[in-house]
Amino acid sequence: GAGITLTDCAKTFPDGTRALLPLSLEIKPREKMVILGPSGCGKTTLLRIIAGLETPDLEGSVYFDKDDVTGVPIETRRVGMVFQSYALFPTLTVAGNILFPLRLKKIDKAIQNARLAQLAQFVGIEGLEHRHIHELSGGQKQRVALARALAVEPRILLLDEPLTALDASLRERLRAELSSLLDRLGVTAIYVTHDQSEAMALADRIVVMDRGAIAQVGTPFEIYEKPASPFVAKFIGAAALIPAHAHDGGIHVQGQRIAAYPDKRGDVFLVARPEDLAPTSDGPLEGQVTAATYFGDRKRLHITLNDGPPIIVDTPPETALEAGDTTQLGLTSDKPRILTP
Ligand code: ADP
Ligand code: MG
Repeated sequence: GAGITLTDCAKTFPDGTRALLPLSLEIKPREKMVILGPSGCGKTTLLRIIAGLETPDLEGSVYFDKDDVTGVPIETRRVGMVFQSYALFPTLTVAGNILFPLRLKKIDKAIQNARLAQLAQFVGIEGLEHRHIHELSGGQKQRVALARALAVEPRILLLDEPLTALDASLRERLRAELSSLLDRLGVTAIYVTHDQSEAMALADRIVVMDRGAIAQVGTPFEIYEKPASPFVAKFIGAAALIPAHAHDGGIHVQGQRIAAYPDKRGDVFLVARPEDLAPTSDGPLEGQVTAATYFGDRKRLHITLNDGPPIIVDTPPETALEAGDTTQLGLTSDKPRILTP
């Protein structure tokens, strides 16, 4: 796989929409990079610029290793692309779809057949080669789309929400398969999703995007443990931000000291994820349960803190609290995550 370098890539569409603000990014060879962000933040536009389907505004450049590919069309970039909608040819068979890019290049028949057998096995669709596309399930279609993207032996594989159209259990299974497949291929992969758990499961590193800009780049661990902004904290892991104040070596919420914090003074946020608070009998926080949902492995409480924001608290499944109850809450760790605004 090739390394990718983007410098000052912005995108303004002819109608004036600023889909991307100038951004720079380095992706290492063989890295699995996930681009994560809400709908409309510019993920697809960024991916299409890397693919060569879209050119960045004038000041932007795209490099594959040391090669400047900014003006180079997609056919000669050796990238494979997989879309949410599969984008398969409905009139061709599975084999016809997978071999389409090789036929375009007039690759030798014997090589084509060998490649087909290898790809079908690799993505797990052996025996389906002669089926028509409408005879396939969603998961099978997406495997065909992946095989077709891999047929050209790409240096870079680009995947735009490839699992979004599938149901939840299949999505989770294919996600794990895809992750190990990408490792075996050794291709540089850029994977776009709006789904945080998908990003965490697949990524070596994650690029979090917000309104056309990069909000944070880091490993899943770094993004979860050290969110760079309130936006990242809220987007990753259902965090609520509780206004707090740091002074006298501690963090204080509503005048109550909740944990030691020697670092700084001033207004801060306490990052409260579902695992960060637990019901107690002696505070320091208090709130009212607005909803309680039993999930078998846990009970999830929606709680509105007194003079504070709504938060989510995961508790053991046998917890007795129900909607309408009032409860005290304490921190589950003596090292809470703190965000400075
Ligand atoms: P995402 O993939 O994160 O949902 P997109 O990259 O598709 O976001 O879109 C980013 C922004 O650019 C959106 O506001 C979208 O409406 C706009 N946009 C995308 N493509 C075009 C286009 N061809 N012309 C004008 N605006 C576009
Ligand atoms: Mg998109």
